[in-house]
Amino acid sequence: MCEFCVKHGEGEKWYLQAQNYAEDLLSDLRRRKFIHNFLKYPEKLRAEVDKLDDLNRLPAFVQAVVKPVFVNRAKKSHYGQVLPLEDVEKIFEFITSVTRLPCICRQISVGTEQRYCYALSMVPPEDSQLGKIARSTGADYLNGPHTGGLEELSKEEALIQFREMEKQGLFHSVWTFVTPFIGSICNCDHDCMAMKSTLKKSFPVMFRGEYVAEANADLCNGCRSCMRVCQFGAINYSLANERVSIDPPRCFGCGICRASCERDAITLNDRSKVPAVADIW
Ligand code: SF4
Ligand code: SF4
Repeated sequence: MCEFCVKHGEGEKWYLQAQNYAEDLLSDLRRRKFIHNFLKYPEKLRAEVDKLDDLNRLPAFVQAVVKPVFVNRAKKSHYGQVLPLEDVEKIFEFITSVTRLPCICRQISVGTEQRYCYALSMVPPEDSQLGKIARSTGADYLNGPHTGGLEELSKEEALIQFREMEKQGLFHSVWTFVTPFIGSICNCDHDCMAMKSTLKKSFPVMFRGEYVAEANADLCNGCRSCMRVCQFGAINYSLANERVSIDPPRCFGCGICRASCERDAITLNDRSKVPAVADIW
């Protein structure tokens, strides 16, 4: 299990612990300010991610010092983890309300309002401090004429949308807003700033999932649908075998490949029980 499970989950999956979504965590003024600024000033996030290119040009010995500092800072403020749909469903068993809101990352990287982020709360939407903080920013993309405001959804409606997004190849991730408070589940691809930071710039800001995928060669017919949706380049195709195989160290355990496989050839295994990757996060 990842270090957040140890620190914030008492040895269980940290994102399945209701206390990490508790409304009273939002009485912390530092956390409220962080969320407010995160939503109000998306260009700051872009500037931070752009700055990583400069850091990557530094001599290796300097990077060896700078990268852990950066990553540890992210772990304390805004850090994520990939999770499969069945764990999203478990979260939805105990949270009370879901608010769909525009994705800051897509706002930055594509320049349009795209609704891939879902704020979660343990209280009804009208009492949600998170919603109030979001609205208090006055940001155009949250309140503007083209956004229709923030959308309150039932949990069932949200899950239907999550399943649909899986079919489109988007994977799910949970996010802290001053750890350990979890404020949202997002649906991500390469437009996600966390993906850019983690995969392209070698500054990880999200853990791999608690799982790792495996393809059953007896069931696989080599159609390669799974390869087309894997955002992490973890699936290889063998022309000789006419089958795919999954590279465990590259797999983030999102389960999107599984959703695309009509032969039910892909399963997710508990990462901690796969020795080759049990310590790779
Ligand atoms: S989608 Fe399923 S059947 Fe097709 S290549 Fe992948 S594992 Fe094999
Ligand atoms: S191989 Fe791993 S990372 Fe790629 S889609 Fe499947 S579960 Fe996700």
